[in-house]
Amino acid sequence: MNQHSLYTSKSSIDNFKRIGIFGSTGSIGKQALEVISQHADKFSAAILTAHTNHILLIEQALKYKPELVVIVDQSKYQFVQDALAPLGIVVMSGEESLEEAASLDIYDMMLAAIVGFAGLKPTLKAIDARKSIALANKETLVVAGDIVMSNAIRNGVSIVPVDSEHSAIFQCLAGETHNKIEKIILTASGGPFLGKKPNFLVNVRREHALQHPNWSMGAKISIDSSTLMNKGLEMIEAKWLFNLRPDKIQVVVHPQSIIHSMVQFEDGSIKAQMGLPDMKLPIQYAMAFPNRINNAFPRFDFTKSSQLTFEPPDIKTFRNLHLAIQALHKGGNLPCILNAANEIVVYGFMKNLIGYLEMTEIIEKTMDKIPFIQDPTLEEYFESDAEARNFAAALVNI
Ligand code: NAD
Ligand code: MG
Repeated sequence: MNQHSLYTSKSSIDNFKRIGIFGSTGSIGKQALEVISQHADKFSAAILTAHTNHILLIEQALKYKPELVVIVDQSKYQFVQDALAPLGIVVMSGEESLEEAASLDIYDMMLAAIVGFAGLKPTLKAIDARKSIALANKETLVVAGDIVMSNAIRNGVSIVPVDSEHSAIFQCLAGETHNKIEKIILTASGGPFLGKKPNFLVNVRREHALQHPNWSMGAKISIDSSTLMNKGLEMIEAKWLFNLRPDKIQVVVHPQSIIHSMVQFEDGSIKAQMGLPDMKLPIQYAMAFPNRINNAFPRFDFTKSSQLTFEPPDIKTFRNLHLAIQALHKGGNLPCILNAANEIVVYGFMKNLIGYLEMTEIIEKTMDKIPFIQDPTLEEYFESDAEARNFAAALVNI
């Protein structure tokens, strides 16, 4: 790692940040690399990690020259090693390598862009190592938000959200530290099945569910957006990020995805953050925080927009949102159980093992079955996750 001293000295100049992109081959990871390309004077990619896509990981590493890459899938290690070791790039493999990488002193900020529960442990390690976190991986807060946030506070680590709704709220709260929030309003596009009823949903196939009207995202979050589970996970994410009581978190469907979310203060005034739907903006905002930096992304033009509309979510039809709201209110390990069951059913649906509406039934059964714990330890969260996964997987027939 002979480039280390170079990067260390660079990091002290002009807020230069060495970003560790955990999940660089995903939708968020790829867009973060585009942002880095456009602002090479401000950011470098110091760490890149991938689960199985070694081809793309190698391609990214050749272009961005990180100090370290992690390929979790050990069967791909040799390919990556052969391609990158001659360039002096360190290659690690295996699940534990993510945690090891997160602890290293070769980067300043983690972009937590791994999907699902797998992102939790590396993020906890990065917090222990006092790295700032740009958080895309909402499941981290859904599973163990109390522990993640208290560790961050104890270590003086800032967690800047990347999820567009939470980035919007974070931006609306700038300069409002001492002002009371009456409520926050999370906007939801409604997904591809807005207005549909169960008799339609029962026949939905994966190809259809993967088509989001406004955002191009990874497979798991696309399915979650179609079921509105994504919005439920985001309510739980918001509870922890902004330290809010569940009854202060409201969801409104806004199909155009121009208002990314809003904050209503105690005087009734509402602040909204707006723009065209493009994840590069919240990614860039989190990476550059507390500064704003320029870009050439397309701008929203009010004179050309036809209308911005709003309606309540249909939680009778989209019952995943109802289940997530239950978990939000009850707390304890219930959001962790909900999340684990959801990861399994989304996998099962993607593999055509279960139907669209069966996803909800299995999540509900899992939430009923796994013992409730009011104040879980981290170990108990891991145990609840494993129990819920096993139970749901048996119902899916995995
Ligand atoms: P994705 O599926 O496109 O990419 C996931 C990344 O995680 C890939 O790099 C993959 O290699 C890695 N990964 C997957 N499983 C892993 C495992 N078990 N261990 C280690 N690495 C693993 O996902 P995405 O759409 O980029 O989403 C990433 C996270 O960001 C999710 O938590 C999602 O909810 C959140 N998010 C995404 C968007 C979006 O627009 N895509 C918006 C808001 C929030
Ligand atoms: Mg979102």
